[in-house]
Amino acid sequence: MTLECNFCQALRWKGESPGMCCGNGKIRLHSLQAPPEPLYTLLTADYSDAVHFQDNVRKYNACFQMTSFGSTKEIREAGFMPTFKVQGQVYHRIGNLQPLRNEEPNCW
Ligand SMILES: [Zn+2]
Repeated sequence: MTLECNFCQALRWKGESPGMCCGNGKIRLHSLQAPPEPLYTLLTADYSDAVHFQDNVRKYNACFQMTSFGSTKEIREAGFMPTFKVQGQVYHRIGNLQPLRNEEPNCW
């Protein structure tokens, strides 16, 4: 990522269209704030636990993003263009990070 937007200073890859970040200055986003503790320290410190976290942050992120999707009612329509619809409450389902004693790991 070596090309910089003239409006928002976002970096982009060589093949990406200019303006896809902010619509050539039409959209202005607030500056990012520092993440809350203890995340900020884990991302910036150089003690062993923080370095371990930084080296494995993608794994931790994947752990939390891979929740199961759930809804009150799901409608699946097959055919040439399969369709998935939901009605009612939408929620994430996730199991324990550590399986309980005598239980297998699961994502619900
Ligand atoms: Zn931009």
